Amino acid sequence: MPTHTETTILRGGEWLLQATSPDDVFTPERMTEEHRLIGRTAQEFVDNEVLPNLDRLEEKDWSLARDLVRRAGALGLLGVDVPEEYGGVGLDKVSSLVVSERMARSASFGATFGAQANLTVIPLFLFGTEEHKRKYLSKILTGELIGAYGLSETGSGSDALGARTRAATQPDGSFVLNGEKMWITNGGFADLVVVFAKVDGEQFTAFLVERGFGIKSGKEEHKMGLHGSSTTALIFQDVKVPAANVLGEIGKGHKVAFNVLNFARFKLGAACEGGAHGAIAESATYAAQRRQFGQPIASFGAIKHKLGEMIARTYAVESLLYRTAGLVDARIAATPHDEKDGSAALAAFEEYAIEASIAKVAGSEALNYVLDENIQIHGGNGYVRDYPAERHFRDARVNRIFEGTNEINRLLIPGMLARRAVKGDLALIPAAKALQDELLGPPSMPESDAAPLADERRAVAAFKKVALMLAGLAMQTYGTKLGDEQEVLMHVADVMIDVYGAESAVLRASSPGARQSPRAALHDAAAQVFVNDAAFRVEASARQALAAMAEGDTLRTMLAGLRRLLKVTPINTVVLRRRLADEAVARGAYPFA
Ligand SMILES: Cc1cc2nc3c(=O)[nH]c(=O)nc-3n(C[C@H](O)[C@H](O)[C@H](O)COP(=O)(O)OP(=O)(O)OC[C@H]3O[C@@H](n4cnc5c(N)ncnc54)[C@H](O)[C@@H]3O)c2cc1C
Repeated sequence: MPTHTETTILRGGEWLLQATSPDDVFTPERMTEEHRLIGRTAQEFVDNEVLPNLDRLEEKDWSLARDLVRRAGALGLLGVDVPEEYGGVGLDKVSSLVVSERMARSASFGATFGAQANLTVIPLFLFGTEEHKRKYLSKILTGELIGAYGLSETGSGSDALGARTRAATQPDGSFVLNGEKMWITNGGFADLVVVFAKVDGEQFTAFLVERGFGIKSGKEEHKMGLHGSSTTALIFQDVKVPAANVLGEIGKGHKVAFNVLNFARFKLGAACEGGAHGAIAESATYAAQRRQFGQPIASFGAIKHKLGEMIARTYAVESLLYRTAGLVDARIAATPHDEKDGSAALAAFEEYAIEASIAKVAGSEALNYVLDENIQIHGGNGYVRDYPAERHFRDARVNRIFEGTNEINRLLIPGMLARRAVKGDLALIPAAKALQDELLGPPSMPESDAAPLADERRAVAAFKKVALMLAGLAMQTYGTKLGDEQEVLMHVADVMIDVYGAESAVLRASSPGARQSPRAALHDAAAQVFVNDAAFRVEASARQALAAMAEGDTLRTMLAGLRRLLKVTPINTVVLRRRLADEAVARGAYPFA
């Protein structure tokens, strides 16, 4: 049974314009026993069955990979998003998040698993006909069939709709596919591939293609990391596909591709967050044991700084992910729908596409930071294969590349916001105008508030105004040419990512679950460190964006407005990072796990 929450349902991107109550956000502290149970199942599976076999997977033992996918299926891990009727376990999106987090303990198998549970299950469930579901979905959910997702080509990665694979219509209504897909996860042994091709060279369409129809795999790519996951080209040479195997509608392949990506980006963010938990535990344990100059390196301030920062960044990503999952679940629950069809989930992920892109970018970049510092804390041992730190680092680099590169996702974040504002779905334009008036009026004195995190709440409110100022000004300055101004869009995206992360962290730390926990002070510390540092980043991005859009007196007026908004006094983060680091070292784990 889905276990949705009582969250007030903001629309996607609406957090930029509205305040949210800490009582309304979903946080890890609100997880139910059902969420914990599926999390334990995934964790035990990875610990007991995947990690001990990592070397065999890295030697490309794909029969083992198949067995492990089947085991994951038997445990219900492949079917979290699918109702029982089709062989799934029908849980909510918080559960999907928890499973993705735990599967990340092995990045290589996580990729194999993701290509099956996300990139094959989701399109089949959302766009498949009853026949597709009966014929393929049930077997994908048990792991009897292995799935893959064939979108990218040599000449079209980010520009996925520029695919050159063709599907020629035959007189009997079937299709003949010709072309080549690149870098396909599970490509070496997949039985069923969701393939995107242009019908008669024009209409971008998704197909369900069985290997037996004639797909050939290229050789395994020599990758930087993820050596335990298969990545190959897939070659289609006169591959005949029945008319019944069109997935969705002819000419509507972009709907399949983009909606699947919304799901997959969110889950990739979750996987990155799960990976960061593991690396923090490794670093904390190593720092406690490794002695230099007669003491554990964990006692050095430089190491405490690293650990504290790794924890604060992970905390913000975790907070925004659980908040987003809560919003998605609440929206699905509030939408009248038949449990059997995925239309409510599809609409919910479309609604929160901005948040899914934020989750992907923030998650993959926080993980990169954490894994780089994990190596640094391990010193020379971090650079050699005796320790897992170097493998994690190599494995994680691709997270910034696939599921839409971070550049493409950064462009999407303000791009989607602007589109919704122009359509009137988000009241961004009136809010930006009101802000302009506010900045021209007399300054108001902030009300004094001694409640915990009051300064951070004020800072987040200021960040939102900065984001609004930049987004409004960019729309006004560039109009329909906004898409051409990528550098400015990237700055706006960076501010929005920091707003969502900082607000989610503060809301979580202020929520009843955190306040009533014995770790309340640690929650405060993580949120405070993140907000303090976000203030510097937001200011730097805003100054650069403003200077790109205005000059002379106009620029000076805007910079004065920015200074007025961003009156954030730096706090002593040294003591806060030390508190977080000491807790991680004492527990040998991420403090909020
Ligand atoms: C290990 C691995 C597994 C993968 N698995 C799959 C899979 O299962 N299925 C699948 O279909 N694909 C898969 N991919 C492919 C992946 O999705 C693509 O590599 C990715 O989308 C980027 O495309 P590209 O490599 O062509 O890079 P390009 O699109 O050529 O990008 C190169 C650079 O240019 C930037 N860029 C491109 N366009 C723009 C723009 N408009 N504005 C600004 N910057 C831009 C990019 O951000 C990037 O920095 C996988 C890749 C890897 C490495």
